[in-house]
Parts: sequence; C-alpha cells; structure tokens
Amino acid sequence: MSNIKIVCRACGAQFEFERPLPACPNCNNHWLDAEYELTHPQQNGHLAQKGHDWLRQLDGRGATLWRYRELLPIHDDENIITLGEGWTPLLRAHNLGLMLGHPNIYIKDERQGPTGSFKDRQAAIAISVMKEAGIKEAVVSSTGNVAIAYSAYSARAGIKLWVFVTSSVPADKMREVALYGSEVIKVAGTYDEAKRIAAEFAASKNLFLDRGIKGIAAKEAMKTLAFEVAEQLGSIHAGQNSTILNGSHYPWRTPDWYLQAVSGGLGPVGVMKGFAELKRLGLVEKLPKMGLFQTSGCAPMATSFHKGLSVAENVKEPRTDITTLATGAPGEAYEVLYELLAQNGGTIDAITDVEAFNALHLVAKMDGLSVEPATAVTFAGLFKLIREGKILPHETVVLNCSGHTFPVEKHIIGEHYSRDMALPDTAELSRSNRSREEGLLTALEELDSRVQRITIVEDNLDAARLIRRILQAQGDFLIDEAHDGHAGLRLIQNTRPNLVILDLMMPELDGFAVVEAMKADPRLRDIPIIVITAKELTGDEKERLDGQIKALLQKGSFMDSDLLNDIQQALP
Ligand SMILES: *Cc1c(COP(=O)(O)O)cnc(C)c1O
Ligand SMILES: [Zn+2]
Repeated sequence: MSNIKIVCRACGAQFEFERPLPACPNCNNHWLDAEYELTHPQQNGHLAQKGHDWLRQLDGRGATLWRYRELLPIHDDENIITLGEGWTPLLRAHNLGLMLGHPNIYIKDERQGPTGSFKDRQAAIAISVMKEAGIKEAVVSSTGNVAIAYSAYSARAGIKLWVFVTSSVPADKMREVALYGSEVIKVAGTYDEAKRIAAEFAASKNLFLDRGIKGIAAKEAMKTLAFEVAEQLGSIHAGQNSTILNGSHYPWRTPDWYLQAVSGGLGPVGVMKGFAELKRLGLVEKLPKMGLFQTSGCAPMATSFHKGLSVAENVKEPRTDITTLATGAPGEAYEVLYELLAQNGGTIDAITDVEAFNALHLVAKMDGLSVEPATAVTFAGLFKLIREGKILPHETVVLNCSGHTFPVEKHIIGEHYSRDMALPDTAELSRSNRSREEGLLTALEELDSRVQRITIVEDNLDAARLIRRILQAQGDFLIDEAHDGHAGLRLIQNTRPNLVILDLMMPELDGFAVVEAMKADPRLRDIPIIVITAKELTGDEKERLDGQIKALLQKGSFMDSDLLNDIQQALP
C-alpha cells in the first residue's frame, strides 16, 4: 500500500489521505490534489530508479486502469469496484490521417468503456473511494455521462445515488440513469444551477457530495488516460501490438498533442497530472501541448483564453445543443488549465455546433467511429488546428474519443437514412408470368441504381482506398479502380466513365501521359479529369495540364468536401 497525501492547491498544506475531505482544513479552499510517496519530489535522487522498478511491477497485470494502482487513491484492493474500465484501444486514424496528410493521429477510444464514455474512469475511482470511506448514499451533478457512469458503479457498490441533471439532457440518457436505480432530479435551469442545487441538497440532508474536479478521485481517475497513452504509444513505437501489455520492455512516450472537448475541464487537468507524474518518475520526457475545444454557444474558457485572461469570464446562458459541454462557470479549472497551457503550449478554441455535426458524419463515414456530439467537437477541433497549421504533419496527436453516440440524436442523420424495398407481390407476379426470383432481381436492381461511373487511377493503394471511401460514403457512384497508368487507360477505354480521378506520379505510364492519351482519343476526349497529386507542380508541368483537367487537388490537404465539390462541378 502506497502512502498518499492530500495537498491543498491554495496554501500547500498537506494531510494524510484517509477519506475524501470537503475542503482544506487549514484554509478552507476546495481544490485538493493527491500526492504519492512514489512520486514525492523530496526523494528526488531515486525517482528514476523508482519509476523503472514500478514499470517492472506492471508486467503481467491485467488490462484495466487498476494496473497503475500504486498511483491511485485506494488503500485496500477489497474496496475496488470495477466493470473492466480503462485500457481502451489506441487506434490509428487511418483514413482521416490520410485525408489530412497527418500519419500520426491516434484515437483513444473511450467509447469502449462500460457505459460508453470516459466518465467510467471517474466513476470507478470515485465510487471505490466512497466505498472505502463507508459512504452509503451520495449526491452528484452531471451534464449526462457522469450520471450514467456513477449510476452503474454505485449500483454495484450498494450506494444510493442522487443525480442532478438539467432538463436538457437527452431523455434516453436519463432513462439509463433511472434504469440503474438512481434518483434522477431534473433541474429546469443551467448545469451550473443544477450543480449548486445538488450541493445545497447534499448539505441539507447531510449526504456525501461528489466534488468532481475539486476532489481527489476524479483527477486521479483521468490521469490513467495519460498512463495508458504513454504505455500504448511506447509499444506502438517499439513496433509492438499496443494491446499487448508489457510495460517495462520499451520506453513510454508522450504525444506532441492531447486533444479533448472540455466542459468542466476535468479530463485535461487529470491527464496533465498523469504526464507530470510520469515525467517526475523519469518515464517520459515532456508533457503534451493541449488542444482543448468548447462549443461556441458555451465557450467561457475559449473566449477568456483568447482575451488573455487568467481567470475565466462565465457564460450565464449556454446556447448549444451539445448539452454534455454546457458548463458556463469553469472556475478554478480554467486557472489550472491556463497555467498548463502557458507552460506546455496549446490552445482552447471554440467550435460551432454545425462544424461538430459535420465532423461527426465525416468520422463515422471515414473511419467507422460513431461518436457523441461532444466528441465530434474534438474532431472538428483537430481539423481546425491542422487547417491553421498549428498541428504539424509529423506531430503525434492523441485525441480523446470521449463518448459514444446515442440513438436519441435523430436530427443528426435526418429522416431519409434508409430506403424502402417492397417485396414482389405474388398476384402481380402470376399476372406477369414471372417467378419470385425474377421479381426480386428487378426490385434489387432498382435499389442499386447507380448511374454515374467514376474511374480512380492511383498507384498508392492507401490513397486509392481513401478516394474510394470518400465517394462511397457521399454519393451513389459506380467506382472502378486501376493501380497503374497502363491499366487505368485500358479501363477508361473499356468503360468510358463519367469522370476520371487521376494520380500524376505513377511508374511507367504516368498521369501526364494518361491525360495526353485521353485527349488524343476522340471517344475519351470529353471525359472530365480531376488530378490528385502529392507534389508541388513545376510551372512546366502546370502548363502541360492547363485546359486539360477540371481540377487539381493536393494530396493530404483535401477534405472530402473539396473533392466532392470538384466532382459535382465536373460531372456532366
Ligand atoms: C464530460 C465529457 C466531456 C468534457 O470533459 P471535461 O474534461 O470534464 O471537460 C467531453 N466529452 C464527453 C463525451 C464527456 O462525457
Ligand atoms: Zn489550504
């Protein structure tokens, strides 16, 4: 069992950690941090050695966040309440990375937690701490996901939970909370008001109040994200499968960027504490830059950051459909993040709901990830920082894929997401003297009525897959592919497509030669061509293509909308 101290952020006073404290007994400030013997700065000389000894202890431990238990605020393993949280996959963003021209973008897939968001970490630690302290009834306020996660874990722990949410939290989320047996109180007001009322309720009934970011458990929980990312990036870098756990066999790594959509700011505060502890232990060299994002309808941190304020100006009436992110009064969390940004670099930016919903579609269609709108804000933020040149192509980016989508959010795909198919009517079949199979074939043909034919000529198979995927996801096209100039030209001659998407740099017959051959053939001359190239063209090369093609796109710098616009313009 490791020795844990509570440290007050305001006065620096230290106390033994026995049970959660409501405030500093010395100065009454509410923001408290945990410090461990293992990472204690006073014992500096031996820290790196301790760090490496600790790594060796991790070997053979299971794939949950409890593998880091020496740095977690639980004294006795008996009190651990677990649903298998943590050790979510770190996925490479394949198609998105190609699309953006950034190969090192990783997605920490927190959707795969027990209740579908990264709040499962927080719930696991917070409820275990409550159990250890003998707490039987507790009060929590939430913008949605904390309510679900805490409800599941408190059910397991035998703790009665009072959950205060705003009435704007989607009904399906609230039903799940009720299903776990929590008391759900809907407050007709903002989240900040719900939070205040929860505190008053707890005080009046003398119940334990979960203090979120100000308490110990929540930050300690989120720092496990940093531990996992450092361990997983290390194993990926060493050429290992990142799901294989052998922590001591390769150096751990910090990404250049950590990206997350923020509401109260707990995630990044905890993650940065995690990287700071690893650095103190000599296990990583640096802390990441942070890319933090808020919705423009509730962006107190982003606005204050861009005004250069070290204390946040609150938003009194959040206006956003993304309720998960509706904290208008971030308080001390902003001050902590402001300091961390000054020390390590990064930014807090605002993203519109529309940008987020567009990103939500793109991520689902390009990389197969269905995320909740709050998470889509992070993806939109990634696109923004890349567009602005703040994130550089070689940099390693880890994006917190913080939550899964909910079926309740129907407005996201609209009404016309499926097509109806009528099965052939038996009376009709016998009248027309056709078999059931014939009738079915006709119906199926009508279902697939693709008329526009597009040929992709591209020797890089990743790039060809990316272009194909963009076309598949957005339009009803018949797509043919060739992987060199000769095969491409033959395919074009045989199928006479409505459009050709052509790479320039290919061995033997290159894109220039394909263009010239098409223009010399009267049957192919009028087929529009969109050229996609990886290199800057010389003046001479540009001249060769001048007047011959419809559009020229730079690889890695096009988003699907550019390509689709060009296709729409080019198609007859
Ligand atoms: C809570 C939450 C956020 C915001 O996290 P904080 O670090 O507390 O600001 C973002 N996305 C999802 C899905 C969340 O549940
Ligand atoms: Zn104090």
